[in-house]
Amino acid sequence: MPTTTVDYPGYISAVVFLQGCPWQCVYCHNRHLQSILPSESLPWEDVLKLLELRAGFLEAVVFSGGEPLVQEMLPQAIADVKRIGLLVGLHTAGANPKMLARVIRSVNWIGFDVKHAFDDYHLITNVKDSGKLALESLSMVIESDVDFEVRITVHESIETDSLLDTLKVLSGMGVKTVALQKCRDKDEFVVEHPVFSDRLLLEEVSKYFDGFYIR
Ligand code: SF4
Repeated sequence: MPTTTVDYPGYISAVVFLQGCPWQCVYCHNRHLQSILPSESLPWEDVLKLLELRAGFLEAVVFSGGEPLVQEMLPQAIADVKRIGLLVGLHTAGANPKMLARVIRSVNWIGFDVKHAFDDYHLITNVKDSGKLALESLSMVIESDVDFEVRITVHESIETDSLLDTLKVLSGMGVKTVALQKCRDKDEFVVEHPVFSDRLLLEEVSKYFDGFYIR
């Protein structure tokens, strides 16, 4: 359970990685978490005890994955974290809008992964209709009061024009903060997309948003 100030920007957070994800992104670095079946994971009760011990110097707990929205225990886990007085962050790609609807009012911040243009999601996730689910979830986040950031991992297969179109769509939907993330291969080496060396283009794109970051 790592402690960071990056996973929920500005807050000292513990990150809890939840098992299970229905997608198979080409660049996934958490493949061991894709199965919903427990592997070497700790039961939630044990994680909660650790969080209670560290609550004095933590400000937040971030649920990450995998895809936290596939875990039926998520609403209870969020309630437990709030009971010990910590803020709740959520990393999601929006794969389960029904669960998102159940928890969105209890969450303080969301880091929302956008994978590609919504019609082309399957090219990254390898799952048909994943873009529809992501669009439904992102729309729900935008319409809510919750603070959020969109993150896009820019895989080498994504054409620059397609990325630009996606960024324009996000801006039009009301997204205010976007981070473009460099993709890493299985050995953790950065596979740099040409968009990251196009300063003029990045400067132009940054005007679409209140906050625009490169990571
Ligand atoms: S959504 Fe996240 S956890 Fe799931 S396959 Fe994609 S990168 Fe991996």
